[in-house]
Amino acid sequence: LAKNKGKNQCIYCSSDIKNGTVKKMKLTNNLYRALDKNELFLYYQPQIKAETQEIIGFEALLRWNNEEYGIVSPDVFIPMAEQTGLIRPIGLWVFKTACEQLKAFQSIYNKDICMSINLSLEQLKDTGIADKISKILEDTEAGAKNIQIEITESIAFNEDHSVLQHLKDIKNLGVSISIDDFGTGFSSFTRLKTFPIDLIKIDIDFVRGISSGSQKDMAIIRSIIQIAKNLGIDVLAEGVETEEQFKFLRDNQCDIIQGFYFYKPMPASEVESILSFLAFYH
Ligand code: C2E
Ligand code: MG
Ligand code: MG
Ligand code: MG
Repeated sequence: LAKNKGKNQCIYCSSDIKNGTVKKMKLTNNLYRALDKNELFLYYQPQIKAETQEIIGFEALLRWNNEEYGIVSPDVFIPMAEQTGLIRPIGLWVFKTACEQLKAFQSIYNKDICMSINLSLEQLKDTGIADKISKILEDTEAGAKNIQIEITESIAFNEDHSVLQHLKDIKNLGVSISIDDFGTGFSSFTRLKTFPIDLIKIDIDFVRGISSGSQKDMAIIRSIIQIAKNLGIDVLAEGVETEEQFKFLRDNQCDIIQGFYFYKPMPASEVESILSFLAFYH
C-alpha cells in the first residue's frame, strides 16, 4: 500500500502511532531476553480470611523491571508474552518460583498457607502442561493441596476440549482451581455445575460499586455469593480498598478478602518479615 504512494511517503506518519508501534516492538524484543537477564520477579499479595482476618494465602503477581524502560505494567507485557508464546517459558518460571517461595514462607510460618498462580489460555493449550506442573510440584516439594491456579471465565468455560482436559489433569494433581475476575466474562451455569471449581474471585469492578452505593453491584455480589455457597464453592473478593467494602463483604458471607485495605502486593522479603512477626506473636 505504502509503495503505491511513492517512495518517501508513509501512510503511518502520525508520530504518535509510529512511536507507539516502535516502542511496542522494542518492548517485545526486550521481553525475549527478560528471563535470561533476570529482569522478572514476583510480588505476593496476601489473601485474608474475612471472619478472622488471618492471612491464609498469597497471589503471585509477575513484575518486569526492564533495563531500558524500567518497570513495565503486567497489563502491557502479559498480553505481549501471550502473543509471542513467551508466556509458556515465563509461566513455568512463575510457577516454579512461586512454589519455592511458598516453601520458604511455610518454613517461617508453620500454618496452612496457599499460593495462587495465574495461568493464561496459551499455557493451557500446551499438551505437556500438566506434566510440567507435576514435575515442578515434585522438584519443589510444594504440596499440591497448597497450590491454586487462577484462570479467567473465558478459559474455564472454553469450548476447546483439550484445554478442558488439561485443566482436569492439573486438578487431578491435587491443585485447586479458581475463577479470576468473575462476572466480567461469560459464565455458564452448566459449566459451573460440571466443572470442578474451588473458588470464585469476584471482580474489582463489583467491589468498587459498594463504595459508590450501587444497589445493582451489591445485589450482584450477594447473588454470586449465594450461588457459589449453594454449589459448595468458596468466594474471594478482589480489590477491596476500604473498611466499608470489607464489612459489606464479610457481613454477606464472602470467605476471603484480597486488596489494598489489608495489603498491597509486595516483595517476598516483606512477606517474610510479616510472617516472622506473626509466628513470633502467635
Ligand atoms: P489479576 O490476576 O486479576 O490480579 C489482580 C490485580 O489487581 C493485580 O494487578 C493486583 O496488583 C491488583 N490489585 C490487588 N488489590 C487491589 C486493590 O485493592 N485495588 C486495585 N486497584 N488493584 C488491586 P497486577 O499485579 O498489575 O496484575 C494485572 C494482571 O496481570 C493480573 O490480574 C493477571 O491477569 C495478570 N498477571 C499478573 N501476573 C501474572 C502471571 O504470573 N501470569 C499470568 N498469566 N498473568 C499474570
Ligand atoms: Mg489473578
Ligand atoms: Mg483478578
Ligand atoms: Mg485481572
